[in-house]
Amino acid sequence: MKKILFASSETHPLIKTGGLADVAGSLPRALHELEQDIRIIMPNYQGIKNCEPGRYVCTVRVSNNDVHILETRLPDSDIIVWLVDYPPFFNHPGNPYTDENGAPWPNIGDRFALFCRIVAEVAMDRAYLHWRPDVIHCNDWQTGLVPALLSLEEHRPATVFTIHNMAYQGLFPASAQAQLNLPGQLWRPDGLEYHGMLSFIKGGLAFADWITTVSPTYAQEIQTPEFGYGLEGLLAYRRDNLTGILNGIDTDIWNPETDPHLSRRYSASDLDGKQANKLELQQRLGLPTNADIPLFGLIGRLVEQKGIDLVLSCLPEIAQRPMQFVLLGSGDKSIELRLQDFARLYPQNIAITIGYNEPLAHQIEAGADIFLMPSRFEPCGLNQMYSQRYGTLPIVRRTGGLADTVTDALPETLANRSASGFSFNDPAPSALLEAIKRSLLLYSDKNTWRKLQQNAMGKEFSWRLSASRYLDLYQSL
Ligand code: ADP
Repeated sequence: MKKILFASSETHPLIKTGGLADVAGSLPRALHELEQDIRIIMPNYQGIKNCEPGRYVCTVRVSNNDVHILETRLPDSDIIVWLVDYPPFFNHPGNPYTDENGAPWPNIGDRFALFCRIVAEVAMDRAYLHWRPDVIHCNDWQTGLVPALLSLEEHRPATVFTIHNMAYQGLFPASAQAQLNLPGQLWRPDGLEYHGMLSFIKGGLAFADWITTVSPTYAQEIQTPEFGYGLEGLLAYRRDNLTGILNGIDTDIWNPETDPHLSRRYSASDLDGKQANKLELQQRLGLPTNADIPLFGLIGRLVEQKGIDLVLSCLPEIAQRPMQFVLLGSGDKSIELRLQDFARLYPQNIAITIGYNEPLAHQIEAGADIFLMPSRFEPCGLNQMYSQRYGTLPIVRRTGGLADTVTDALPETLANRSASGFSFNDPAPSALLEAIKRSLLLYSDKNTWRKLQQNAMGKEFSWRLSASRYLDLYQSL
């Protein structure tokens, strides 16, 4: 049995801004089921909910600050969560990275540097918790200083650093190095320095014993300039200690046979229920109810990463065809406005919902026929896996986790029954349009479509598989 300390800036359902929280809420549970002693450590934000109030366990003194550690549990589990309690930094309304108005915390570097120091103290068993982990599993730049600080310790646990998105690096002016009082020997070009700036993520990339990212294809992509944001050289240098492990999905929450958000549940052998969800979705969103018209869905953050501009470029052409398009998302205001303009122009074909709405996300996954996910880059992506489980065939760009989880419908994959969606290479509207046309061709052949749905619904995306890969990695260190 391994003792693993899992450090994350967010954990579902305590606090969530994105996919990292889903991983931090699910992977420890899956490892716990594999009988590992795993504990989570995260800051004690004001916005934490859905758990028992933290019980005081100890005080750790770092950089002349007294920091309390509180203990709670991950809901419906015995998994200990240690909350790093330092009210001047964390007891404010807002999310882990921004205030209530979406402005980044001006002292975000101080916040996560303090968090990293505490994680390092707990890792070295100097926090009076009487628990010495074998492995510290760090996630994204907010925890990047942990492997760096631990590299200076003599008898330290092994360190793993997981990249959930290379686009966020935790870069600060060089002066932050002194202000955060970081050990001078870490400040070097093959350490925390990045072109004269302080880089938190480099702490993970340069010093962790092992680096992982959330899909095998993304692990390759980040070694190239297009996806590496200037760190491709370092990642290529570390390629012998870099692997991609796909995220799983929560197969209890995302299960069309039991989903409480659906009025009619269904399975691969009873797809009539899916039809009922489609009619209900059309009605709910004010579109003409029609079981035969192909219904496209999209859910996600409306940002450049997700390739929404490609969809916007295709909309004028696809809206002329007999098809419907429903979208749920929020993000870039100019994208939101352009989408809403299209909905006004084509009220019979297009329904746009701006906002964050979990029940509607489930209803779209169940009611749509085809799911669009033309991301420019996608470290892993979850929605394309939910879609397949719901028999909603995804159209994806062949990048990152999308390439690793969707099998394009081609003559040979249709014949060997591995086809589970559609993919295209070029981040161009014409390539997306071509994939849409291919999907419509197969959609018109009901028998083939049903087989495709069954292929997709039969795929295994659970956390158990991924967790056993992480466990193999921990054991190898
Ligand atoms: P990312 O982490 O880059 O945002 P993922 O596909 O990995 O993308 O995960 C996004 C998660 O957030 C999924 O669970 C998705 O269903 C959910 N989500 C995104 N936008 C919305 C929204 N507007 N309403 C409900 N759920 C959303």
